[in-house]
Amino acid sequence: LVRIEGVHKYFGQHHVLRGIDMTVKNGEVAVLIGPSGSGKSTLLRCINHLETISAGRIRVDGELIGYREHAGKLHELTVKEVARQRRNIGMVFQRFNLFGHKTALENVIEAPVQVKGQNKAVAKKRALELLDQVGLSDRAGHYPAQLSGGQQQRVAIARALAMEPELMLFDEPTSALDPELVGDVLNVMKDLAASGMTMIVVTHEIGFAREVGDTLTFMDGGVVVESGNPREVIANPQHERTQAFLSKVL
Ligand code: ATP
Ligand code: MG
Repeated sequence: LVRIEGVHKYFGQHHVLRGIDMTVKNGEVAVLIGPSGSGKSTLLRCINHLETISAGRIRVDGELIGYREHAGKLHELTVKEVARQRRNIGMVFQRFNLFGHKTALENVIEAPVQVKGQNKAVAKKRALELLDQVGLSDRAGHYPAQLSGGQQQRVAIARALAMEPELMLFDEPTSALDPELVGDVLNVMKDLAASGMTMIVVTHEIGFAREVGDTLTFMDGGVVVESGNPREVIANPQHERTQAFLSKVL
């Protein structure tokens, strides 16, 4: 589903992604780990074209993201075309950027109604199903400030799912949460994975990577240092840098 080939990213002179290759198959969960500044968030942001890329190709479902190719050159798509591509890609951030003045339910129906032009009653019915799926059917009328961080993050997941994306990107979805709230969010993600969703997850929750991940990729300094079966990478990392990193997070 996702094919990343030779992706480079510069911020000015700063070479942040240095030739990333990565493939995520349909229904797979790819877990991405690596030290702070290694480029994990930047890579995720490139996948839904929140960042431009300096070289390489990113394809989702065979379709080039953010660009059209003409005579070997990339030309950036229009805002409208990028918006169409993004509908297919849900993203959940570390900070649960919900609309504070809207209830959980209103947050979830916002995009389907505003962006897709979905009928409000239809969107509401689906939103209630999604809130139920993330264990929050009794919180539909609550505002973000009335919800715990873990509950807010689960609303954020429901909101992303409301657009019926084919791919979900998670950028450290539990790292801003109190430890006792982490499990609920990870369980929702685990259920989502079991339902067949294709997911790319940046997380330092190694237990999640081992249990739910189909692949584990370790990035450092803007390159993929190693990638493979999570159990194998965790039990027997091939590179010293991976070993050193894992020894810190395990
Ligand atoms: P963390 O674990 O701390 O979230 P990360 O692996 O997600 O780290 P990135 O956020 O992708 O790392 O950042 C990679 C590098 O790119 C860092 O050195 C960062 O300072 C730089 N960077 C990220 N965003 C920008 C930006 N908008 N402008 C300039 N530099 C940036
Ligand atoms: Mg990051």
